[in-house]
Amino acid sequence: MDSKVKSGAKWKFKAKDSVKKASGCTIRSILTTINANIKADESRGIIRLGHGDPSAFPSFRTTSVAEDAVVDAVRSAKFNSYNPGTGILQARRSIAEYLSHDVQLEISPDDVYVTAGAKQAIDVIITVLSRPGANILFPRPGYPMYAARATFSELDFRYFNLLPEQAWEVDLDNLEAVADDNTVAMVLINPGNPCGNVYRYDHLKLIAETARKLGILVIADEAYGHLAFGKNPFVPMRVFGEIAPIVTLGSLSKRWMVPGWALGWMSISDPNGILLEHGIIDCIKNYLNIVSDPSSLIQAATSQILKQTPDEFYSRALNLFREAADICYDKLSEIPCITCPYKPEGSMFLMVELDLSLLEDIKDDMEFCIKLAREEATILLPGSCLGLKNWLRVTFAAEFSSLVDGLERIKDFCLRHSKRQ
Ligand SMILES: *Cc1c(COP(=O)(O)O)cnc(C)c1O
Repeated sequence: MDSKVKSGAKWKFKAKDSVKKASGCTIRSILTTINANIKADESRGIIRLGHGDPSAFPSFRTTSVAEDAVVDAVRSAKFNSYNPGTGILQARRSIAEYLSHDVQLEISPDDVYVTAGAKQAIDVIITVLSRPGANILFPRPGYPMYAARATFSELDFRYFNLLPEQAWEVDLDNLEAVADDNTVAMVLINPGNPCGNVYRYDHLKLIAETARKLGILVIADEAYGHLAFGKNPFVPMRVFGEIAPIVTLGSLSKRWMVPGWALGWMSISDPNGILLEHGIIDCIKNYLNIVSDPSSLIQAATSQILKQTPDEFYSRALNLFREAADICYDKLSEIPCITCPYKPEGSMFLMVELDLSLLEDIKDDMEFCIKLAREEATILLPGSCLGLKNWLRVTFAAEFSSLVDGLERIKDFCLRHSKRQ
């Protein structure tokens, strides 16, 4: 109906195009589409291996230290006020200590900003870098929030490839080839989402040297920091701050399994003061005065969480992830139309490739995921939404019984849709 006739007025507003464009490429929007295919009368229970949030499963409950810390913060009645845009000092201090702990580098609380999850840290750094004409480099496959956020800010972006046959290392030649005079930054996700890889020290150093050569900032997304359970230890990118300026993003969400608490951070490792000199630091602080702050209660709880979480919590989590990753890799490897190029050593995911020539009536990864949801009430994420068409991202962060059930369903589905020989 003509809006003029309906309302009796001529309304002049319109939605912003870049927001419309950005919303189509987030994981949430794709999973909503896939979820809509689950039958209303489905009685077996839905198995969600599409997103990385195991917090609802009993085995993945956070430490009681974290729960008590939040209760203590509430009860103290000391954290009901507005806080500085950069975060509560006590939280910044404890995050700085946490980040300094594992490397021979002293990080100052002044170099740490508290954000509403790592997601808001992405928002801050992309916003700050979004100058007309500038462009930024993202890994492929990667985390679609970056492209969504850049689209929203009208910041141009390009992709550099990760190499599945080389443990998902960065294709450094490709990285240099896609960069140009207007490239300002690159994003590196380690431990990797969606590939479950953990980069070696030497490879990270080469990346830092390439960034220096290109004159660009490295955004080190360490949302899965320390979730490394294979042969490579987790090496924080900030150890290479002398080579190129590093902005590290992290949060409580994954390691403590409390993504809903939305407590994250951004830390600056730039001993040569390049970011300060180029106005980036002032811009970050200004922007943090504009956006919403993370809850003061969770900020206040952060120091207790970071300082008092027992080692057993971390090691138990790593054992759970390692075992789940092994089950997932082994079971998927048995399925003829699925290839697993790399056994995950970190984060909560692995990427597998579909061989569509072995399947009938499935034309691509999206159709695979939609039919899997409809027929088996099991949710996976199509690789096309991460930049790799006809691949799938599978999370193994689920209760073992659900995981095994889900993997069986995927196998049944693949066999049912296999071409007859
Ligand atoms: C989950 C995730 C984030 C966002 O972290 P939150 O703390 O939940 O906001 C950022 N980057 C990657 C790679 C992630 O997987």
